[in-house]
Amino acid sequence: MQPEKVYVFDTTLRDGEQAAGTRLGRREKLSIARQLSQLRVDIIEAGYPNSSPEDFQAVEDIAREIQDVTICALSRAVPEDIHSCGKALAKAKRPRIHTGIGGSDIHIMGKFRDDKYGRTLAEKRIRILKMAVEAVKLAKGYTDDVEFYAEDSGRSDPAYLFEMLEAVIDAGATVLNIPDTTGYSVPEQYGTLIRNIRARVRNADRVVTSVHCHDDLGLAVANSLAAIQNGARQVECTINGIGERAGNASLEEIVMAIRTRADYFHLRTDIDAREFSRTSRLVSELMGIPVPPNKAIVGANAFSHSSGIHVDGFLKDRQTYEIMRPEDVGLHESRVVLTARTGRAGLRDRLEKLGFALSPEELDQAYARFLSIADKKQEVFDEDLMAMLHEELQPTSEDWQLEHLHVSGGTSSVPTASVRLKVNGESREATSTGDGPIDAVYKALAAITHSSVKLQKYEIRSVTSGTEALGEATVHLEQGDSRVVGRGASTDIIEASAKAYVDGLNKLARLPTATA
Ligand code: MN
Repeated sequence: MQPEKVYVFDTTLRDGEQAAGTRLGRREKLSIARQLSQLRVDIIEAGYPNSSPEDFQAVEDIAREIQDVTICALSRAVPEDIHSCGKALAKAKRPRIHTGIGGSDIHIMGKFRDDKYGRTLAEKRIRILKMAVEAVKLAKGYTDDVEFYAEDSGRSDPAYLFEMLEAVIDAGATVLNIPDTTGYSVPEQYGTLIRNIRARVRNADRVVTSVHCHDDLGLAVANSLAAIQNGARQVECTINGIGERAGNASLEEIVMAIRTRADYFHLRTDIDAREFSRTSRLVSELMGIPVPPNKAIVGANAFSHSSGIHVDGFLKDRQTYEIMRPEDVGLHESRVVLTARTGRAGLRDRLEKLGFALSPEELDQAYARFLSIADKKQEVFDEDLMAMLHEELQPTSEDWQLEHLHVSGGTSSVPTASVRLKVNGESREATSTGDGPIDAVYKALAAITHSSVKLQKYEIRSVTSGTEALGEATVHLEQGDSRVVGRGASTDIIEASAKAYVDGLNKLARLPTATA
């Protein structure tokens, strides 16, 4: 008999992005959504459409393009949020609206303080329950697939929570999400809550119970697993466990626990685990959040053995110290090396395998960039290609473009940078000195663009090994309330740094001005 399936609901693009504090562009969100579809998640929560025009656009783009996965949008239990979800999901093949409201007394008294929700807790509870039911009914007008969340379920009074859940099932909710919003639960207690919901809420057997855990006490994955042991059949999680505060439950850890311990859970997911390594890298790079080396499943050291006793045992029989094989999660796949002699077709083929589907014009641009990299470093690895593709391939004339860069310095002279940028067909130039060559470049760039951006974070890393390796620079830029991650890659780290800054400026310029 086939084990029962657990649905995997990915919220990297909603809860994850919310937490990163940085806004992803359309192209970046689509890249992540495409990769999530390769990973074969069941549901992608693509965003919160009513929060900003950009988020609306992202949900709409993903709904239009990704047709083999359920696309979900988040709303509060208020009509304008739900209408916004309905519109953003209009083109989705399998749309889901995720609506809900605070279910704990702390949330009710804190968030619905206004007298219009009632004066006493008892009055407010009645009003909140009514809002929940109305929200589900309104969402049903757009799609049959309506998920309801009772925010802060982990700290709710169970009697009131159960009453609310019964009411929303009657109103047509098909999935009940029981979030531990604050990461307060412990596994046994949370498992019991789920079991009680399944046993005591009328008609709970007709809907899917979902869990959404946060990692404030480091228990998000343990709580999620306790929940599925007690009848939950959907887990809400993120790649690399990114999310609000300490993060959400990590998708790869939950899936590999279910799979590695099938003897214990007797459950399955449809996830293609060989895509984990690639997905993790993509999310880490696009969000600008590094993965700790000791992170389970996807950390750089997750499969390396170092102590003498372990290595000795491992070499005799890998099962002595290995419960999963690195190739099962997509590590150490045979690495194809491309060189300057690789033609356009070879490059296209490799990029498709890495999950990048390019238009013919984009392929031309990518090929030109590939040749210039291959020229400088002879062997081009997958990591180099990915770094190269994280830059905008088809800049528009309104984008700033780096035309020329010259830096002089050394141990006994003041670092000086001359930079020329092109925008709207016009070239602009500035020269500046600085504390170091990169500081000088950034001062010159700020002078040309008259920008008031603040550099929050700067990182440079070598994408592959060797002195001719591609360097990838990542900058976190802030302007008003907006934060973006800019990236640039080059064999010259100063050029990579300049490109990253220019990329960030272009991303800020593309954001809707309402948030500035
Ligand atoms: Mn959350």
